[in-house]
Amino acid sequence: MTNVYYSKSADYQDCEAALEAVLLPQIRERGGVHGKSVMLKPNLLAWRRADDIACVHPAVIVAAAKIFKEAGAAKIALLENPAVQTVPAILQAMGILEELQEMGVYCETFRNYCRQETAEKVRFHDLEIASEYRDYDFVCDICKVKTHAMMTLTLCVKNLFGLVNGSARLGWHLAVGRDFEQFADLLLDLYLRVKPDFNIADGVVCMEGNGPGSGNPAERNFFAGSIDSLALDRSLAELLGVKDLLLLQNAEKRNLDSAYENKGDIPDAAPLVLPDPPGIMLRWGLTLPPGIREWMRKFMLSRPLLDPKKCIGCGMCEKMCPPHSLKMKNGNPVFHLDTCIRCYCCQEHCPKGAIVSKKTFLMKSLEWVERTLIRRKHG
Ligand code: SF4
Ligand code: SF4
Repeated sequence: MTNVYYSKSADYQDCEAALEAVLLPQIRERGGVHGKSVMLKPNLLAWRRADDIACVHPAVIVAAAKIFKEAGAAKIALLENPAVQTVPAILQAMGILEELQEMGVYCETFRNYCRQETAEKVRFHDLEIASEYRDYDFVCDICKVKTHAMMTLTLCVKNLFGLVNGSARLGWHLAVGRDFEQFADLLLDLYLRVKPDFNIADGVVCMEGNGPGSGNPAERNFFAGSIDSLALDRSLAELLGVKDLLLLQNAEKRNLDSAYENKGDIPDAAPLVLPDPPGIMLRWGLTLPPGIREWMRKFMLSRPLLDPKKCIGCGMCEKMCPPHSLKMKNGNPVFHLDTCIRCYCCQEHCPKGAIVSKKTFLMKSLEWVERTLIRRKHG
């Protein structure tokens, strides 16, 4: 049973004590951070105006860094991959860049993305994510409590999608965005890979309605925290009156334990106004006309490719393909790319290494442009 800690905070002024109430017990549970390195991963979607509720509030970020520093952390970094701005630009706009730097917090945008091997039982094997989190002893996931048009709520598990780089995020939306269950499974795979050590939810001012970017502020005046993101998300969903969250349903189907016990000053929070049911455009994960989406799926998504010289026709790939997008024909697998979700289970289970993931020219070009722009931004 995982502990989920709650505290109440009327606003963001002097919120450090309330944040300590949910973070210090986690630090104790992890055996302390003295002499260790900690990476903060706050949700910084975009900072478009003062007190933009799309992001974790700046006071929470500063308070979290202070708490880790006072607990003796030797090195603290803040890394994220915002939608448009760089991390230093967002922190500058928030007015906290200098303060963080004076505390010695290294603030940067993720740069290094690669496929991460894991011993966990994951479904999507070709997931490239920011590798920087592996350079730190501890990862602290800091989410804003928001509604989300696709996933109903975005909390600590969903916040990990920020470790996927921009062009790849688009690719995953194209690959699995049409199927919310698959997208929930992708998020669970991210959780299994990263398993943040500390988790904080900023629920002082939540976002309700048309989230995650354009909803309305909803004061619920609390912080929550747990050493397990999934347990925290389950507790929050129940607190906020969200039943049947797809992410949690899928976690149960996959036997991922999220049992929790609430502790501390538990708020009596009113339910959030949830987003309208997704329209057909959003069901596809992108607000684009169907023709363009199809074109993008065809020319941008990486695809499984067979090396017929290595294939022995065993049929294992056909058995392991979740959406049955692969059929054996004349002793070789034939891929049906219209329904293929790019999970690469076929590749993982092929005993002869006969299947590879092939990036399209357009995706390679897009990634090159993205890398070049990031390099220029960072000088
Ligand atoms: S063919 Fe099937 S197993 Fe292979 S990547 Fe596509 S969906 Fe996954
Ligand atoms: S699992 Fe590999 S060797 Fe077996 S049929 Fe599929 S591609 Fe060929």
